[in-house]
Amino acid sequence: MLRSRATSLPKIVRTVVQLGFVGLMAWLGLRHQFPGTGAGGAPIDSFCPFGAVESLPSLMDGFGFIRKTGTSNLVVLAALGAVTVGLSGAFCGWLCPFGGLQDWLSAIGRRVFGMQLRVPERVHAYLRHARWVVLGVIVLMSWRVLGLWFADYDPFRALFHFKFESTLAYGLVIGTVLVGLAVERAWCLYLCPLGALVGLLGKFGLVKVRRAEDACTDCGACTSRCPMRIPVERLDVVSDQHCTMCTDCVDACPKPGALVLSTGVKGESLRPLAVGIAAVLLFFAIIGTGWTLGFWQTGRGCAGCSLESPTAVVVSPQTTRAGAVVARLE
Ligand code: SF4
Ligand code: SF4
Repeated sequence: MLRSRATSLPKIVRTVVQLGFVGLMAWLGLRHQFPGTGAGGAPIDSFCPFGAVESLPSLMDGFGFIRKTGTSNLVVLAALGAVTVGLSGAFCGWLCPFGGLQDWLSAIGRRVFGMQLRVPERVHAYLRHARWVVLGVIVLMSWRVLGLWFADYDPFRALFHFKFESTLAYGLVIGTVLVGLAVERAWCLYLCPLGALVGLLGKFGLVKVRRAEDACTDCGACTSRCPMRIPVERLDVVSDQHCTMCTDCVDACPKPGALVLSTGVKGESLRPLAVGIAAVLLFFAIIGTGWTLGFWQTGRGCAGCSLESPTAVVVSPQTTRAGAVVARLE
């Protein structure tokens, strides 16, 4: 079914913010591959919050950050954490460049084909938990190899690394485009390991979409607009792990006051635009604080396109944990 997607001010601002983050990532990726275009950049992996998660096993073992990561990853993870604790899933709805790309691909898909595919409800009910399995496998493999094991399979990295070294990298980019055109936010719904973490932390987020049962007419406009397939009209508080705080449901609701964004304090509510602006400000406030305190250190390290970090544990995806320990001791 083709759902109507009226353009509203929050939606326009959200698109502009997403464009900004996609542009920033593209610039960082290009700066790394073509040092002449900037100051000679760190690998794109240094700016991904998930790099900090993958580095944790190595850090806990006293091996330091794995190759291509640094304290910058921790700072970005802290910024993501602050946004999520305050504004639930807003990182995914407003800031994540890969989320933005998927939104645009599905908009193109709807326009070109007049529809998008929907995974059948019974399959969706199971598949929506698959990103936990992806997260578990990555954490396990990161612990085993003490390296960025997921990097070769990560479509975000394949896109923004701007160096398509393998057939797999091409496949990931083509797959991202095709799936993005066909199914709305498929990566976020079913596979994204970072989205799983945001979903977990977001459950404890302060601001949420809340429904006033006495004002709600059960028209279902909110549910049919939700890109994450959340049954908003049946919930009092949307604390679903998949909510991205995109605010589309609030936008779609025809009854003033039936759906609001609030912390739950009676009489208090936030405009959708305020959620996005707060997310951007909070995110960059934490990054700026980390930077100012001298805690921003990016990793180095694609062999051949940048410098190797002298202190990093250099392991390949094939390397075993035991091998990494031996390499470190040598
Ligand atoms: S689920 Fe993953 S890809 Fe989607 S918006 Fe969130 S972090 Fe980005
Ligand atoms: S439409 Fe509403 S419930 Fe669905 S993801 Fe966006 S904010 Fe969350």
